[in-house]
Amino acid sequence: MIVQNWWFTTLLKNEYKICPPLQKDINCDILIIGGGMSGVSAAAEFIDKGFKVVLIEKNILGGSSSGKSAGFLTPDSELELSQLVRRFGIKGANEIWSAPVEGIELIKKNVEKYNISCDFRIQDSLFLGIGTSGLIDVKDEMECRETVGFKNQEFYSKDGLDRILKSDGFNGAVRYSETYGINCLQYLQGMKSIFLKNGIEVYESTEVHSLNGNIAYTHAGSIQANQIIIAIDKMEDRFNKVAKEIYHAQTFLSVSEPLSDAEVSQLFPSGNEFQMWDSTLVYSYWRLIDENRILLGGGTAASTFLPNPWYNDGIIKGVHKNFKKHFGFLESLRFIQYWPGLIDTSRDLLPVLVKDEHNPNIHFIQGVVGLPWASFCGHFVANNILNSSFSEDKKYYEYFSDRRYFAFPTWMEKVVTKPILFSLNNGWAKYYQVDKKDQLKFKKNEF
Ligand SMILES: Cc1cc2nc3c(=O)[nH]c(=O)nc-3n(C[C@H](O)[C@H](O)[C@H](O)COP(=O)(O)OP(=O)(O)OC[C@H]3O[C@@H](n4cnc5c(N)ncnc54)[C@H](O)[C@@H]3O)c2cc1C
Repeated sequence: MIVQNWWFTTLLKNEYKICPPLQKDINCDILIIGGGMSGVSAAAEFIDKGFKVVLIEKNILGGSSSGKSAGFLTPDSELELSQLVRRFGIKGANEIWSAPVEGIELIKKNVEKYNISCDFRIQDSLFLGIGTSGLIDVKDEMECRETVGFKNQEFYSKDGLDRILKSDGFNGAVRYSETYGINCLQYLQGMKSIFLKNGIEVYESTEVHSLNGNIAYTHAGSIQANQIIIAIDKMEDRFNKVAKEIYHAQTFLSVSEPLSDAEVSQLFPSGNEFQMWDSTLVYSYWRLIDENRILLGGGTAASTFLPNPWYNDGIIKGVHKNFKKHFGFLESLRFIQYWPGLIDTSRDLLPVLVKDEHNPNIHFIQGVVGLPWASFCGHFVANNILNSSFSEDKKYYEYFSDRRYFAFPTWMEKVVTKPILFSLNNGWAKYYQVDKKDQLKFKKNEF
């Protein structure tokens, strides 16, 4: 098994235009820094709007988290609906959940409108419960979805699951639709071609090293812009103090040799494929990708908050072992490539959308966990620039403010270190706020 991002391997099949680095001083109306899902989604909003738009990226578009990701397009990127309901109540959870739902729709629309080849596939989500507590989690999620008023879910008992997934050791599952799989690197590179056709200037291999007012300086040039969207990852404090709000979580991905058609039919007896994850704390997740390969990811608690990527195949081999316990008929399946990735995150796993406190023309999109959320955030920030009436829709700036409540404040990092501060806060966001059952009961009575 070699260390290599599979999506980079798939890029070699297509001829994407490379955009050389910026090597001069230029001006524009809108500058977008960072060519991941957030930055690209923002740039897409400016197509045909009559502005001079520049997108710069230090790697290639998709060169960081977005282009390393597993490509699950589900609103449930890290926080389950029941966890949001517990914290925000039904109305709030509904409003927040609708952000990634819209994010998915926007990606789907672009894939269709621009005919982007990116292995975009319909894959209903399957959240699989392991053990008694896993079954409770799955039932909670099902009940919560019903309470909130969603209609596209179905519960499967252990026996019922056999009809749709050949597996062992799962006690039940909740399935929901309107979720998809994507090769995100190909999607972003595909969007690059669309940008170039539509007059958006793209510079790859162009890292911004400093900002001064409305001017961004790169190693070989500069860009002066009326409005700047900063959608970079691993941001340093020198750009803005909001960087303190962000850390990262590590996960590992791997890709298998192709399954035979017979194995795919065995795996999915109903003929429908799924994207799946289990109910364990550091969960495993997997789905089918192009050429009938299995994309399988996961990690360990000890490796999640490490400061740097850890090139340790022992971790992903542990994930493979667990996977094969559930899918014994795939015992001899070989995994050929693996790669680690650091996902930027805020303390509570929701994005941070802020403007610079001294310069309202500088907009930050930070700590976005999940491609659908990134798609939404890019769209949202761009539309606030495009349309002043859009900015009346303040609620997302409130939900995603850097001043929202967190259980453990940033100063604590001096005492406990940043990784521990983030693991405490992430744990709180997922498991320890208001009691869910009471919250649901309370809200049910309200209706
Ligand atoms: C291994 C892995 C698996 C994942 N799987 C999934 C999944 O299945 N589904 C899902 O929804 N989410 C998944 N995620 C999370 C998802 O990838 C991220 O939440 C999402 O990509 C964030 O998008 P972004 O545009 O905000 O950040 P990024 O994609 O990180 O984009 C930021 C960009 O800014 C660039 N940049 C940084 N500094 C500078 C600078 N100074 N100048 C210029 N450019 C700069 C970076 O190179 C990068 O391309 C996964 C992440 C990882 C790492």
